[in-house]
Amino acid sequence: MIRQFTDLKLWQQDRAQQKLSGKTLGFVPTMGALHQGHLSLMEQSQRQNDFTLVSLFVNPTQFSDPKDLQKYPQKVNEDLQLLTQAGVDFVWLPTAADLYRDEYRYRITESDLSGHLCGAHRPGHFTGVLTVVMKLLNIAHPERAYFGEKDYQQLQLIRGMVDAFFMPVEIHAGETIREEDGLAMSSRNLRLSSEQRKLAPAFYQALRSPKNLEEVRRALQAKGFQIDYLEDFAGRRYGAVALGEVRLIDNVPL
Ligand code: AMP
Repeated sequence: MIRQFTDLKLWQQDRAQQKLSGKTLGFVPTMGALHQGHLSLMEQSQRQNDFTLVSLFVNPTQFSDPKDLQKYPQKVNEDLQLLTQAGVDFVWLPTAADLYRDEYRYRITESDLSGHLCGAHRPGHFTGVLTVVMKLLNIAHPERAYFGEKDYQQLQLIRGMVDAFFMPVEIHAGETIREEDGLAMSSRNLRLSSEQRKLAPAFYQALRSPKNLEEVRRALQAKGFQIDYLEDFAGRRYGAVALGEVRLIDNVPL
């Protein structure tokens, strides 16, 4: 039976009990509107831990554009059903009032990698991400936490934070899960029109092609993508594009 909680004190008592009895916890933080990409992280956690905890929280501090936050898909009832079917042990629905009782006066910033790629295009995004992940990890106290390679820059920054602050958690990565046509699964894909959805896999195909960045840029623009950035960085090719109002990101090894 899945156990749902919002009360932090009750969770902390429960977690202390689990630790005393030597049980391990795996944690998968998400913003909900769950898909197979999230489920594969949960499966990995279930294989490696006694218990698995999933959080559903659309973190307001990582959105630089308030319209983007408003339009972020929310499907809590479907998510709870999926989590039950998946056999997850705990689901946590934090409230912003609990997580940000400091009113976001305290923040985790990184001063190098976070200025590149998505960080250069979404001011404050990674500060919001790192701050919320630090809070979630401190409350959940998992032995292991799971993040997707789809958000590769985020994964690197979280690994760096855990290392820099000597946080007692192992960070595990899950490979990017894709639709059959190659489009990386994302909660935002729900907002694509049927025409945009047909076009979207061309983004991954272009990233994977042997063309240089300028050729990729031109090919995508010709198809109607607006380019946020395309960059080769530390052995990977990264991109962020928009189709109408929907932003898509992806990355592939070079
Ligand atoms: P989100 O709900 O989009 O914040 O994502 C929650 C976690 O799932 C993050 O660690 C993401 O990197 C991961 N994730 C999202 N989409 C995918 C995907 N298609 N494949 C693998 N992991 C993913």
